[in-house]
Amino acid sequence: MNANEIWTQACSYLRKKLRPDIYSRWIEVIQAREIRDNNLLLGVGNDFYHSWLENHYLPILKESVAAAGGEGLEIKFVVDPSVGDEIGQADRERQRKRKRAPVETGARTNNLNSDYIFDSFVVGPSNGFAHASCIAVAQSPGRAYNPLFIYGGSGLGKTHLMQAIGHFVLSQQPSCSVCYLSCESLMNEYVAALQNKKILQFREKYRSTDVLLVDDIHFLTGKDALQEEFFHTFNNLFDSRKQIVITSDRPVNEISGLTQRLVSRFAWGLVTELTPPDFETRLAILQFKQNKLNIALQKEILEFIAINVRANIRLLEGAMKRLASYASFMKTPLTVSLAESLLRDIINSQKRDPVTIDNIQKKVADYFDVRMSDMISKRRSQAVAFPRQVAMYLCRSLTPFSLPEIGSAFGKTHATVLHSYRLIHDKIGRDQQFRLTVEKLSSSLSSE
Ligand code: ADP
Ligand code: MG
Repeated sequence: MNANEIWTQACSYLRKKLRPDIYSRWIEVIQAREIRDNNLLLGVGNDFYHSWLENHYLPILKESVAAAGGEGLEIKFVVDPSVGDEIGQADRERQRKRKRAPVETGARTNNLNSDYIFDSFVVGPSNGFAHASCIAVAQSPGRAYNPLFIYGGSGLGKTHLMQAIGHFVLSQQPSCSVCYLSCESLMNEYVAALQNKKILQFREKYRSTDVLLVDDIHFLTGKDALQEEFFHTFNNLFDSRKQIVITSDRPVNEISGLTQRLVSRFAWGLVTELTPPDFETRLAILQFKQNKLNIALQKEILEFIAINVRANIRLLEGAMKRLASYASFMKTPLTVSLAESLLRDIINSQKRDPVTIDNIQKKVADYFDVRMSDMISKRRSQAVAFPRQVAMYLCRSLTPFSLPEIGSAFGKTHATVLHSYRLIHDKIGRDQQFRLTVEKLSSSLSSE
């Protein structure tokens, strides 16, 4: 028997022995790899799964493998991020099911996910303008801004906001036809229509919607025939004052291989950007989601997540769910250092640009409201010396520069830098509020 055959049988054994939620969370996510030197190699998505399985399920896994005819085989895990993401396969499966069960309105399906409504969208400076634009469009579709073009990095809420428009329009005018789809689905439907000679029906379908929401339009790159088709659909809808909303992971002029006439049309209406949320918004999102999901993590754990997971709200939510499921299985409160080790892969995956001394000086001066020149002045008053010490501390923690190098950037000796570093380090240990301030400064520097 090969690894797959053994594992398939082992799984049916495990399915009988374990609770369904445990099975789907911990076992279904495993992929059998191969048998090598009397070891059955099993692939898992990250270190967390690896250590969890090893610490909690190894005996029953061995038992199941023996029952499947693999007596004497040892079990070894290999970590492979492609096996499952941070949310876990089970959650993905649930999400997939949810997507497959679209909201029905009248005779049509519109593919809207019922979670993506305005009420569940947390507004902050990074998304306030985009949010307001979407509300305006939802209140008077086809009239306020047409098309509405929303762009921004992955996991920042484009799909959520776009679908919220759809829900809102339907709540006001249930007879409206709203159609949401990804550009990729549009492409697939288009190809199928071409093959089945149903292109007229395809055109009719999209040209008769009142609100057309096309997600991830950057997928049009290099798809000339689809661009041509979309161009005509666009004109048609636009001319009949139907609302078009499109999203993209980059600004319209940076979508390579997009014909100029589409570029210019996409910019006709309103273009709005989503940027990564600041610390307060990240914390507000976590608090909102935790209430919604009936999770209760301590404040310092939520703050830890908000400080460390910065560039993607999907990851933010994934990190929270991971810690919550750990806490509920262990039935013990989480500590910050445990959270740190459970989230290490997520934290490491966020690339940081090198931080410069200059940046630190500017940021800290700004934060404490002193002049940039005070960072290097000889003044000794506490109002100036303290921010300077914080800046030196951050230089020592966040940059690879040596003590003398940092010293000279402040017009001080290396001994002063070391002294400042120790001073601030001690204060962080004693003063919780201050620790948070320094962490916030450091995370905002690292995410620039
Ligand atoms: P994108 O389409 O930009 O990749 P999504 O709209 O899919 O991002 O958002 C990713 C996840 O983050 C979703 O679960 C979404 O509900 C959530 N999310 C994004 N922005 C917010 C926000 N401002 N408030 C609450 N949840 C948000
Ligand atoms: Mg999206």
